[in-house]
Amino acid sequence: MKIIKIDHLGIAVKSIEEGKKFWADVLGLEFEGSETVEAQKVITAFFPVGESEVELLESTAPDGPVAKYIEKKGEGIQHVAFRVEDIETALKELKEKGVRLIDETPRKGAGGAKIAFLHPKSTNGVLVELCER
Ligand code: ZN
Repeated sequence: MKIIKIDHLGIAVKSIEEGKKFWADVLGLEFEGSETVEAQKVITAFFPVGESEVELLESTAPDGPVAKYIEKKGEGIQHVAFRVEDIETALKELKEKGVRLIDETPRKGAGGAKIAFLHPKSTNGVLVELCER
């Protein structure tokens, strides 16, 4: 498998509007727009930084994964996303190496990307996302 770069850092926030006050107003990052991903009960907002991006995640429902994350751990970095050349090949290879996968097959993420998550039990506690776009 080939990892191209860190695609984005996913940061769980209670409110994207509130989050923007730091990431856009204070740091001066450009707000690229937001998108609702219904399947994951989340609104995502992207802020490009060089070749990578900061992704703020706000839950749309109290039982969504981001809401649950904040409930347990508070706001903060929720996942790291690596861009891969070929996500199907990457998942197959990781599975063969014994890595626990949350998604055995890719699903659709923000911006039409193909994404899949690896289980934190196999990654030293880090929720890792693979994405291909
Ligand atoms: Zn992400």
